[in-house]
Formats: sequence, C-alpha cells, structure tokens
Amino acid sequence: MSLDIPFDNSYARLPERFYTALDPTPVADPGLIAFNHDLAATLGFDSRAVPDATLAALFSGNEVPGGALPLAQVYAGHQFGQWNPQLGDGRAILLGEVVGTDGTRRDIQLKGSGRTPYSRMGDGRAWLGPVLREYVMSEAMHALGIPTTRALAAVTTGERVLRETVLPGAVFTRVAQSHIRVGTFQFFASRGDIEGLKALTAHTIARHYPEAAGPRDLIEGMMARQARLIALWMSVGFIHGVMNTDNCQIAGETIDYGPCAFMDRYHPETVFSSIDQFGRYAYVNQPQIAHWNIAQFASALIPMMEDADAAVAAFTEAINGFPALYEAEWLRAFAAKLGIAEPLEGDRALIEDLLSHMAETGADFTNTFADLEAADLPDGWHTRWQVRAPDPALMARTNPRVIPRLHRIEQAITAGVAGDLAPFHELLRVTARPFDLAEADRAYTAPPKPEERVERTFCGT
Ligand code: AMP
Ligand code: MG
Repeated sequence: MSLDIPFDNSYARLPERFYTALDPTPVADPGLIAFNHDLAATLGFDSRAVPDATLAALFSGNEVPGGALPLAQVYAGHQFGQWNPQLGDGRAILLGEVVGTDGTRRDIQLKGSGRTPYSRMGDGRAWLGPVLREYVMSEAMHALGIPTTRALAAVTTGERVLRETVLPGAVFTRVAQSHIRVGTFQFFASRGDIEGLKALTAHTIARHYPEAAGPRDLIEGMMARQARLIALWMSVGFIHGVMNTDNCQIAGETIDYGPCAFMDRYHPETVFSSIDQFGRYAYVNQPQIAHWNIAQFASALIPMMEDADAAVAAFTEAINGFPALYEAEWLRAFAAKLGIAEPLEGDRALIEDLLSHMAETGADFTNTFADLEAADLPDGWHTRWQVRAPDPALMARTNPRVIPRLHRIEQAITAGVAGDLAPFHELLRVTARPFDLAEADRAYTAPPKPEERVERTFCGT
C-alpha cells in the first residue's frame, strides 16, 4: 500500500523568486527510525497500514509523494545580530502543504535532504544526533502544550556524513504551520522588492492572521504569540540557543531545535550553545531577544508602506507594547505553576523570591516545581504561597514531572550512533507524557550525576 497525502501547495503559488523548485537528493539505503502516525492522522492521511520501507523511501526523499511540489525556500536573517543577506533552505526541502482534519494548513518539510542553491559551504545533510534530538524535543514541547513544530518521521540514510568525525546520516521530517520567518520578510525588504513584500504579507495574513486588517495588526498578532511563546519557554526552563531572526517563525511556533536544552539546575544566565560565546541567547535574555526580533520584523515591513514616517511611528508604538505583553504572559505562566489561575500583581514577588532562592541554591528547575510543597525554601515562603489557595489540579497540569534532560538526549544519541535506538524510543515515550509519569519511569526525573552532566550543545548541522 502506498501513501496518499492530500497536498495543497499555497507557497508554491507565490512568485518564483520566493524559492527554488528541486527534488530531494536520494540516499543509499533508507531505514525508518520513527514515524508519528497520530500526527499523520491529524494531517489528514492514514499511514498505519503503510509498510515501513515505503515510509522510509518517502521520508528520506527517495520517492517524491504524488501531489508534492518540492522546493527550497529563500530567506535572510540576523545571526547573532550580524546581518546575512542570503540564507535559505540549505539542507531542507518543503514537500508541500496539507490542510489537516483540524482545518489547519501545515508544511511537510524534509531536513537533511541534500544540497540546494542555498547550501553555501554545507553538504545539505544531517547526522543522526540532531535528528533524534529534534524528534524528542519537539514532541516533548508539544506534549507540554507549548506551540512548536512537530516530528513526523526520522529515517537513517545508510550514508555517512563528515562532521568532526564520520557519523551516520539521517533525514528528519518536520511539520510546521509554515516556515515563514522574520528572515523571509527581511530577504525581500533588503532587496527593495516591494511586490515580493506585499505578496508575502498577504500570504502570511491569509494563512496565519486572517483577522488582521493590515501590517500593524500583523505585527501585533505576531507579537502577542511571541510574548506567550517565550513566557511558556521560560516557565519550563527551556533555552532555545539560536534565536536568530531566521529562526523566529511568524506563526509563533518554536522552530529549529539546534543547541537547545531544558535547564537542570536553575540559573538565569545559563547558556549551553558552544557558539554563543557572549551569552546573547542565555535563558534570561530570551524575552529581550524576541523583542529585538519583532523590531526587525516591523522594520522589514516599512519599505512597503506608503507613508513611511507614519508607519515608523505606528509600528514603534506597537512594538513598545511588547514588554508589558510579555510580563503579563510571564506572570500568568508562572502563577499557574504555583496553582494560581488569576494572578495579582503581588504574586510577581512571590514567584521572584522563589526563583532567586532557586538560583542561589542551584535547585533543579523541573523537580522544584513538580514538588513545591517539599521544596526547601526560606522561612515564610510556603505560608505566603498557601494564603493564595493554590489549586493542585492546575499545578499538576502546568508542572511537568519529566522533561527530556540534556544528558538523557546525549545518552540516546550515543546509543543511537552505536546502533541501539531503544534509549531514544524510551525517552520519546516518557517525555511525550510529561505530566503523568509511571512509577517505573521515575529514573527519568533524576538530574544528571556529575559524570553525566553536559555543559555544551552544538548546532544541528
Ligand atoms: P540553522 O542553524 O539550522 O538555523 O541554519 C542556518 C543556515 O545554515 C540555514 O540557511 C541552513 O539551511 C544552513 N545549513 C545548516 N546546516 C547545513 C548543511 N549541513 N548544509 C547546508 N546548509 C546548512
Ligand atoms: Mg534555521
């Protein structure tokens, strides 16, 4: 039985200069690692009866499914604040879009599918490590209720890729509401391509913000989703690691799981990424960076506005609202973790006192919230908290028992490279139900032992 995916490709209907149409590069010997049948059902197709070999052929790029229009998207972006006028899908190919059973349009994209005109010095491939990492991280994020791209498939290629060493190759299939980024807008703006900018804006509004009457509404809508997204990241101790403008998606999903991680010990200055020398994307900096990225988004819309001065004034006013939006989302997210559904301004101090004590003592972020009653906190904190009549049910659904800890991911990757995918599958199974942990899986709540600790993460190339 083959697979019938009901593609409807709206991005491919945009002007040709938005992308390069090309097929994925076939691989030597595709082998299925994982396939997300539940997600496929949401996307509107039934994959359960399809043989693994067929799925492996389709989601390695060896066979292009009927109705797909494979293409690599072009974009630009600020990387660590440095402007790069030309990026693009250098190792990814969009197969096409589907409108799911929930009415939502989504992209199906292969990552690691071979070179494209945007590959620059890269080989267009991915190795197994980043593929397993993105699979686990994105599915865990989804299970935590945080907007994110999803994992549809992971396939080994039977080929080797050269990084610092020779490593097994793999292809990841990502599902996203779209791959339109701040950097997509920046690409057209920086070229003075007003027609392109207008077409992209119309497409983005129709697809993601149909209620928006124009660019200012688009900025405000995007900003509201970013404020919520970053507050939710903060509330689970998530550090993205590469919040470049090309990794900031307009629809407001977490995208590009590169050197990301959940913190074990809480400290606001935590950084994992090996390439983030100055801590630009440290945990505590994430809201300001999001604000900066939104400002780049607004700037990119200016060239298409008839009255540029008026647009600058209006957009500036809109963007200045971000800190207040974020602070409100932050308070809502953290108060919920304390069991408080309707926070008062005074709850901010309660949360901040808790966090500063956690930072001083190096408390485990996840485990402290998962059992706040038992947490060793300064005199009086528990009393102040109890006065707020915390709702245990709210706490149980906002404080995960388990998250994919970095050392567990590293262990799963090391085993996977050695041919044992069981630790990956186990980690995926446990972290896909973060709020409801079986007694038998309790070991997954343990922070790393000193010898297991991972201090650095690397980009997903
Ligand atoms: P990322 O760090 O994943 O956001 O990627 C930044 C840019 O580098 C994007 O344009 C990617 O397509 C490109 N890139 C990353 N890895 C590779 C690779 N192995 N081959 C080609 N291009 C790559
Ligand atoms: Mg990227």
